[in-house]
Amino acid sequence: MWIDVHLDSIKKETESTWRFFIKISNSNNFSFKAGQFIQIKIGDLVRSYSIASLPNNKNIIELIIVKLDGGKMSNYLFNKIKIRKKFQIKGPLGKFILPEELDRDLFFISTGTGIAPFRSMLYYIKTNNIKHRKIFIIFGTRLKKDILYYDEMIKLSSMKNIIYIPTLSREKWKGNTGYVHSIYEKILNEKKDLINPLFYLCGWRDMIKEARNKLKNFGIDSKSVKLEIYG
Ligand SMILES: Cc1cc2nc3c(=O)[nH]c(=O)nc-3n(C[C@H](O)[C@H](O)[C@H](O)COP(=O)(O)OP(=O)(O)OC[C@H]3O[C@@H](n4cnc5c(N)ncnc54)[C@H](O)[C@@H]3O)c2cc1C
Repeated sequence: MWIDVHLDSIKKETESTWRFFIKISNSNNFSFKAGQFIQIKIGDLVRSYSIASLPNNKNIIELIIVKLDGGKMSNYLFNKIKIRKKFQIKGPLGKFILPEELDRDLFFISTGTGIAPFRSMLYYIKTNNIKHRKIFIIFGTRLKKDILYYDEMIKLSSMKNIIYIPTLSREKWKGNTGYVHSIYEKILNEKKDLINPLFYLCGWRDMIKEARNKLKNFGIDSKSVKLEIYG
């Protein structure tokens, strides 16, 4: 079932990645689980986007979208769409969600806009004061200026047991450098006290494929690896 919505506002997160706030037009609240995605339909174009905001029973949801050269939907959203434009969404969709009990250590591994479902999950955990074990947020991008939700993630990581590790592949800075893989590999090699870790991988196909192989080589069962592949 398609739901009528309109574009409420846009905030620029970085030059090429913007936050889009979508208002559900009818008064019904839109309920979803942290980590799920929606499809949006504008004209003939239908594309999927993870929900980056907290499930809070309000009828505004946030998406974070990167502009791709030659990408049809992203170019429309970055160059043409006007505030209050009406369109439709379908959802919530997907099973990339948290287990009922957070009794395992969690790895949230993403690149670029793949951080979206993790932002939703982290706010859900914080707002509802959900008991959890260690959560490693491992986020990769090229340059410091491309880090998404940096200040928010720093604040979220002041919660107990939340370990935020951004890593840059094309710039030296005070933090980690290199790809996300080297970060979780180091943790898996060093931390002998991990409790039955559960891995969430979100982003573009190449990163996910590589991470799946590497985790397999560490002897991690595929049942302990959840995937959301963007394309
Ligand atoms: C479940 C799910 C959730 C998603 N969530 C998000 C999200 O939260 N934020 C977000 O920005 N996108 C997300 N996507 C991707 C999104 O659905 C679109 O694929 C993306 O916005 C490109 O659409 P487009 O119409 O602009 O490009 P298209 O016109 O569809 O295609 C652009 C071309 O670029 C290629 N391409 C796609 N991605 C990349 C890339 N990263 N680098 C280089 N080339 C690429 C495609 O293969 C294609 O050839 C999600 C996808 C899925 C399946």
